[in-house]
Amino acid sequence: MKIPFSVIHIPHSSIIIPVSVRGQYLLDLHELEHAILLMTDWYTDELFTMPQEIATTVRFPVSRLVVDPERFLDDSKEPMAAKGMGIIYAKTSDGKPLRRPMRPGDRSELISAYYIPHQEQLSRAVREVLSAHGRCLIIDAHSFPSLPFPYEPEQQADRPEICIGTDDFHTPSWLVDCTVERFRAHFHSVEINLPFGGSLVPAEYLRKDRRVHSIMVEVNRSLYMDEQTGAKLSNFAQVLAEVQSSVAQLIDVVAHSEDAE
Ligand SMILES: [Zn+2]
Repeated sequence: MKIPFSVIHIPHSSIIIPVSVRGQYLLDLHELEHAILLMTDWYTDELFTMPQEIATTVRFPVSRLVVDPERFLDDSKEPMAAKGMGIIYAKTSDGKPLRRPMRPGDRSELISAYYIPHQEQLSRAVREVLSAHGRCLIIDAHSFPSLPFPYEPEQQADRPEICIGTDDFHTPSWLVDCTVERFRAHFHSVEINLPFGGSLVPAEYLRKDRRVHSIMVEVNRSLYMDEQTGAKLSNFAQVLAEVQSSVAQLIDVVAHSEDAE
């Protein structure tokens, strides 16, 4: 099968907390369910998964409350670690204790069971695209709550429908323009790096290989779900079609812009 040009990364859609990890949490079942309701990028696997011939999808199989695949392995490089939300969250989104203190071996076990295999899968997907096409487009796919969490640096309540995140090294300005244009054709408000900035690149290529392009797309959850219950809204299929169409058009435009640099 022909290798597609793009890799879609879906890090935060899973609600699974493996039984072997459950004993680490200080929350009762109801509180844990509430933390999952707040923190999960609900349905982003449905919104962003593209047909195989358009993009390779790499989805993190467990909840970000187990390990967050978007965080740096080294806490000293990870700004969110200071808020108790580094690679392994110690706190909930409202700053309450989430886990008991880690015992010797807990951290390395979690990292080798979930974080490392996922990073390897993502790196492998990027490597395959690079060898087939000489460049690769990563789309880092998320959603965000319509109201800011207390831990967020950006507390402005007026949030866009779509937030596009960029990286200084891996997101050239033509890619930003192209992405904004595609999403503005389908959505009312599109902001850049507001309320969230950045876009993921596997460590192997980070700030080393300009052939790896990356752009983050975040959808405001109030567009497609009831944030109090987690249920899909009746217009879900419509939003799904708009996201799919924006992403497919973006990939198509970038794939056909040979001399975009
Ligand atoms: Zn996310």
